[in-house]
Amino acid sequence: MKEKIKKYFSENYKTIEKEIIDLTCEMVREKTINVISEKLPEFPFLKFRGEEYRVGNIVKRELDKWGIPYEEHSRMEGRPNIIGKVGTNKSGKRLLMAAHMDIVPAGDGWDTDPYDPVIKDGYIYGRGVLDDKGPLASIMVAAKILKNVIGDEGLSGEFQMAALSDEEAEDPDGIDYGVKYLVDENLLDATFSIIPDIGENMKRIDIAEKGRAVFKITAIGKQAHGSTPERGINAIYKMAHLIEKIENLKFKYEVSPTLGEPTLNLGEIHGGAAPNIVPGDCYIYIDIRSVPGMTKEYILETFNNLTKEVDGEFKVELLSWNEPHEISPDNDLVRSIQENGKEVLGFVPEPFGMGGGTFAKTLNLAGITSVGWGPGDDEAYHVANEYVEIKQLVDFALMTCLISIDLLR
Ligand SMILES: [Zn+2]
Repeated sequence: MKEKIKKYFSENYKTIEKEIIDLTCEMVREKTINVISEKLPEFPFLKFRGEEYRVGNIVKRELDKWGIPYEEHSRMEGRPNIIGKVGTNKSGKRLLMAAHMDIVPAGDGWDTDPYDPVIKDGYIYGRGVLDDKGPLASIMVAAKILKNVIGDEGLSGEFQMAALSDEEAEDPDGIDYGVKYLVDENLLDATFSIIPDIGENMKRIDIAEKGRAVFKITAIGKQAHGSTPERGINAIYKMAHLIEKIENLKFKYEVSPTLGEPTLNLGEIHGGAAPNIVPGDCYIYIDIRSVPGMTKEYILETFNNLTKEVDGEFKVELLSWNEPHEISPDNDLVRSIQENGKEVLGFVPEPFGMGGGTFAKTLNLAGITSVGWGPGDDEAYHVANEYVEIKQLVDFALMTCLISIDLLR
């Protein structure tokens, strides 16, 4: 069966390439920008965050055309999650390939219109061509080819092609419309999953991701008139002392073979109201990427102890937390990517761990063996003149078919 697929790709390369390009460009023209609610007014053409239905309609139109059945799950109208299915599900093995339909805003510095994709010298340029609409087009076309060339009966397991919402922005209200919604509602039943959302030009497989904790720490002072600072307590001074401690903070941890060391970033500071007011409060936000062994209780206690070393009143709040995860590189999913990579791509993709997070974390924590792996340059994410190499998108579609056959036969 793998030979049949390879033959189909070599005989129909130009058609497949055109189909992937056309789908990618059509989806890029839809401005499915996802930002937190507070920033929504900066995009007056958006009625709500993401508006992923614009891309979802394209996905459904194609699946209908190709005779591929799909499920649609939405926490709210207009923000769909679509899962197309090819195969028979006799073996009980299911491979989910999930890409997201939302994008980050274009930002400044583009040489061309970010929403009017340009094709030049084997590359496509535009917002979302890599993250994640190009890879989405690849897995859609792979689903179609599996259906047409192998047929449902040719797979004893099930290939699931998903187009999801709400990856790019985490609203402070904590309500998720994408993968976390699907996991919470028990709507996913995959055995394995591949998330094409890391770049690395298919050369590396993300098998581990650090945990993430976001803290807010507030220094509580006392307001007074700026001309009589002795009557108040300046929260900014208090915070300044604490920040010195934070800069020199050393966590206790064991270096992880795949994830390395934890990181800490003090990313935001706010405080004060006017030059003639003694600031009554000052607060900071800290982003920590943790390695296995660091519990949230430990990190919380570390910050609480730190505030006790500084004279002043502080409040420490943990705003969000997720665990690090790590899967063994010795499993069928990783092996299949490596073996097919060696043959089709001419290299063996290597497992690694990373500090950023993808859908793979949520899925692994929900018990689905998942990796991040896909086409494109990691440096092309979230920047002006985002690009993706067309050949990689076609190779990715071929790899998707071959891996599916391996895992679902
Ligand atoms: Zn992405």
